[in-house]
Amino acid sequence: MHLNTFNLVVIGAGALGCAVLESLGKLDFFSIRIVDGDIVSKDNLKNQTLYSEDDAKQLRYKSDAAKSALEKINSKTRFTSEHFYVGEARIDDILENADLVIDATDNVNTRLIINDACYRYKIPFIFGSLKGNKGFMYIADWKAACFNCIYRNLKLEDAEGCGVISEEAAASAGTLLVDKAIKFLTRKGGQDTFVSFSLAPLSVSEVKINRDEGCETCSVHSYKHRLENGFIQMCGNGIKFSLQRRVDLEKLAIRLKNADFKDGKTALLYKDKEKTIFISDLGDFLFSGYEKEEAKNFIDSLFSSGALVV
Ligand SMILES: [Zn+2]
Repeated sequence: MHLNTFNLVVIGAGALGCAVLESLGKLDFFSIRIVDGDIVSKDNLKNQTLYSEDDAKQLRYKSDAAKSALEKINSKTRFTSEHFYVGEARIDDILENADLVIDATDNVNTRLIINDACYRYKIPFIFGSLKGNKGFMYIADWKAACFNCIYRNLKLEDAEGCGVISEEAAASAGTLLVDKAIKFLTRKGGQDTFVSFSLAPLSVSEVKINRDEGCETCSVHSYKHRLENGFIQMCGNGIKFSLQRRVDLEKLAIRLKNADFKDGKTALLYKDKEKTIFISDLGDFLFSGYEKEEAKNFIDSLFSSGALVV
């Protein structure tokens, strides 16, 4: 099979996602769909090489900025951008015609939801994770053990963002992951092998994973994973809340007095001293400088005031 017949979906355009996209973007695929609800921030420009200071100033969505950067490198692949967080309500929309899904979100809840959907639709799924100079990756296709099999037994934690990831580490991990992806697409090999690696110096170890007979996803087929009340907890201050549906920003702007419209009225930026909340019309809330409880209270207050009622 030629690469240019494949439709790829890359979820997560942070440090690892950027490295993966940069590497994939040089190859000619039929299409690459980039999915991420986050906006570019000046704090992570060093390890997210597809973005510029200008993107951060304009509060551009990472998916849009990545698409623009990749279109300058490669005119043969069709790049598309979806700027929302993936949860159970939105996963189906992005999987249409997908031949391979690459998950670089490094968020366990999101990954379990993607894993459920990929098994349900029989779409191969690669996930990668990076923490400091160490990471792992795995190719799951529906005939082999899935991410939930691994998670049930190893209780893997969210990684990216919790440790400092250098540009070099992200680039090396991205190259490793893309190399596995290409081998899988062209030769159908490498699934059910859990690859852990450490970089500088590079060492890679591989272990075969057997399907867990009690796995809710690949054995029981219950596909029950959901976002925990819409919250996607990242490390540090980066707390996201995803309603998984559109919101009426005009209505919200009346309720939130210190909020300015952005991006042709498709987003709101709310400021409270040093803290900010970026709210997209697709219903994603990006809290900066907030504790999780504080963010939850903020969302609750919007619900009780009627501002989030459809
Ligand atoms: Zn499983």
